[in-house]
Amino acid sequence: MKKIECEVCGSQRLVKEAGRFICRDCGVEYSLPELQSQIIDSPIERNQRLFKRAKDLFRAREYEAARQLYQRLAERGDLSAEFYEKLCEAHLEPLRKDCRSAILTSFQHSLENLWNRDPDRYFKQASQMLGEIIVFGLTVEEIYEEEFQSKAARLESTSMQTLKKEHEKMQEGAGAAWLLMDQAAHLCAETAGDLSKASSYFWELVDAILDDLSINQKRGTIALGDVQEERMYFAKLKDGAKETEEVN
Ligand SMILES: [Zn+2]
Repeated sequence: MKKIECEVCGSQRLVKEAGRFICRDCGVEYSLPELQSQIIDSPIERNQRLFKRAKDLFRAREYEAARQLYQRLAERGDLSAEFYEKLCEAHLEPLRKDCRSAILTSFQHSLENLWNRDPDRYFKQASQMLGEIIVFGLTVEEIYEEEFQSKAARLESTSMQTLKKEHEKMQEGAGAAWLLMDQAAHLCAETAGDLSKASSYFWELVDAILDDLSINQKRGTIALGDVQEERMYFAKLKDGAKETEEVN
């Protein structure tokens, strides 16, 4: 018979407390029906349930538990689970730079797989993932900005040299976070074989990324990138997509 276990971390040390079952190792809680469904669910139902739990944990910003669960799902070969696993890792250590290349790599694998499997659903899922990358990118920008503001407040005008250095550090850090969002948007558009399938939500996300750059350049938070050039690049893609749509 299948043993009851914590579906997040695999531990079998579950204790009952006030009608709930709590994992002693990772702290995730289960109801009795949830534990029972471990035994009666089909593999597909089990997978759906695990994805839902992972998503709930992610939404609740329980990134370590979500990461463990996504990792288990990724081990079974699910590419989107691998993407979310990398995203959780990045949220756990937002300033670690190697997490970002891991996000982009797994994002690209996911996108290729999505496009090959079901082009009609591609933009729905791709936009969801791009949205999550934007949330992460904006979080990192904010961290750098707050760090700079608090240092600036402490230093006041006593050391212009140090302040200048800190400002450059913020520009570099926030700029790299913006670049992650922009590269992800490029990947989304460039992996799709047919942009006429792109939803208005996808183009809204692209606009949000470009607006963010525009605002942050004006405020001096970010020094890199050419907003106009990027706008033109995506506007061209969008126009091309419209033409394809009209021909079809
Ligand atoms: Zn556990």
